[in-house]
Amino acid sequence: MQNEFVDFKPYQPSEGEEYMNHEQLEHFRQILLGWKQQLMEEVDRTMHHLQEDAENYADPSDRATQEEEFSLELRTRDRERKLIRKIDKTIERIDKDDYGFCDQCGVEIGIRRLEARPTATLCIDCKTLAEIREKQTGV
Ligand SMILES: [Zn+2]
Repeated sequence: MQNEFVDFKPYQPSEGEEYMNHEQLEHFRQILLGWKQQLMEEVDRTMHHLQEDAENYADPSDRATQEEEFSLELRTRDRERKLIRKIDKTIERIDKDDYGFCDQCGVEIGIRRLEARPTATLCIDCKTLAEIREKQTGV
């Protein structure tokens, strides 16, 4: 679900290029902006769909179906909203030049991993550990 953002060209760093230099930061800013744009359009579509539904279901017997659909779409919208907030926060970090390093241990998260998950804040090791802990505590 997280990976459904716009197509982009994988970044090809030149030899000895500094990690998260201006060019790389711009590359990820473009990916994040494109992704956000796409999500906003989806939110718009959902809203439009909800309005259409409300007009089409005049018959009371359809109401249960309608309510089910509504709650499903609202959940989808909620998820999209949260994702948009996360993208905004990530773009803020790019602005502050604080992007691409693990929040936990400070290592480089890596271009390929970030391209697969532009909002990642943990390196793959810390992420794996966090997931194991999550499973153990059941949170
Ligand atoms: Zn880490």
